[in-house]
Amino acid sequence: MKFDTIIIGGGLAGLTAGIDLSRKGQRCLIVSSGQSALHFFSGSLELCSLDEDPFKAISSLGEDHPYTKIGYDNIIRYSEAVQPWFKEVGIDFVGEHGKNHWRITPLGGFKRAWLTLDEYANIPSDGTMPWKKVALLNIDGFLDFHTSYIAAGLAERGVETMVKGISMPELDRLRENPTEMRSTNIAKTFAGDLIGALAARINEYAKDVDAVLMPAVVGLTGSTDVHRLKEMVVRPLHFLPTLPPSVPGIRIQMMLKNRFQKLGGTYMLGDSVVSGEFENGRLKSICTNNHGAVKFEADNFILATGNFFSKGLTSTVDGVREPIFGLDVDSLEVRAEWYRRNMFEAQPYMNFGVSTDGCLRAMKDRKPVENLYAAGSVLSGCNSLKEGSGAGVAIISALHVSESILKK
Ligand SMILES: Cc1cc2nc3c(=O)[nH]c(=O)nc-3n(C[C@H](O)[C@H](O)[C@H](O)COP(=O)(O)OP(=O)(O)OC[C@H]3O[C@@H](n4cnc5c(N)ncnc54)[C@H](O)[C@@H]3O)c2cc1C
Repeated sequence: MKFDTIIIGGGLAGLTAGIDLSRKGQRCLIVSSGQSALHFFSGSLELCSLDEDPFKAISSLGEDHPYTKIGYDNIIRYSEAVQPWFKEVGIDFVGEHGKNHWRITPLGGFKRAWLTLDEYANIPSDGTMPWKKVALLNIDGFLDFHTSYIAAGLAERGVETMVKGISMPELDRLRENPTEMRSTNIAKTFAGDLIGALAARINEYAKDVDAVLMPAVVGLTGSTDVHRLKEMVVRPLHFLPTLPPSVPGIRIQMMLKNRFQKLGGTYMLGDSVVSGEFENGRLKSICTNNHGAVKFEADNFILATGNFFSKGLTSTVDGVREPIFGLDVDSLEVRAEWYRRNMFEAQPYMNFGVSTDGCLRAMKDRKPVENLYAAGSVLSGCNSLKEGSGAGVAIISALHVSESILKK
């Protein structure tokens, strides 16, 4: 089977590249093993959080960083397209292009973010709190949302918080077994006809407050119920992230996949690429777990398999590997240098990843593979946790690689 481009990995990077290439007329295949980091999504895209100005922060990064390879002017250009790009898919993000704001974490901390889903709470970059008093609601029995930490975080910033629990008989079945009281199961219940009843319960606590905050447990399959609920609640309603799984993250993953398929793309979920055939410095074809000896050929390939978290990289006592093609990996030889004992310090292993040349072509035996590009968190040279650059690197590198393929 022959495609224009085959993308390995269907997370944020793979889907961004797949959509972009398909929109521009390419015949694409995405092969994806399973869940991606989007299933753990906070509700905010980070571009670079080292400074209030993400672009000032980006310009200070080292020469091996993927952003530096992509180039400052290109990053400005791609980043300007991100909000409209998601809007076209039906996903609304808010935020100033040149200024990070603050988001509230599931444990009540405040972190810099670049774009945040419009249904979520976000705080201006100068830290001025938009509310004096809020109702902070949880669903009775839901353990993945910690109102006491969030209330403490808000109190530190001078916000008075009224914490309340909401109980609805429709959730009793889930409540019988605490392991069933997960964000995704609650979101399956809080849908359609029940939105009106949920709004009525929320409104009981919404009268004397500036805003209502609640866990993101609405809108698993689309944002219609989110908007309906916001309209029915008498005060501004903002969602806060829960511990995983992330309801909006799963929704975004599904909406991006649907968009890709609508554009004519082929998406093979639950299959893994296991090997590739190289010829004259090019990748000729790949084989997958489910399709045995069937060879999938393409003019170009994109490796978007993520980092250790998604098995895009694996490690043993002997070293770090890229497991499909045995590509060159930037890592440290001495194992004891991979990590710092203080878990709150920046961890060196977070910078490990596939080596690439200046065009983000993957290196094998110290030579770039002419038609194999890498995008997203499989790339070496960035520490998304320390820099706050995860989604930014995924989206910007995917758009860059897609442009390079189309220019050929
Ligand atoms: C838990 C977690 C939460 C995060 N939350 C945020 C956040 O809220 N905001 C933010 O800005 N950044 C966040 N990040 C940073 C994150 O890395 C990026 O945001 C981004 O989503 C990474 O996308 P990706 O496509 O590069 O990789 P991934 O999302 O990891 O996707 C890689 C995909 O490749 C597939 N795959 C792997 N091997 C194979 C194979 N052999 N064959 C086929 N498919 C394969 C995997 O199954 C997976 O679907 C988070 C990271 C993690 C680990």
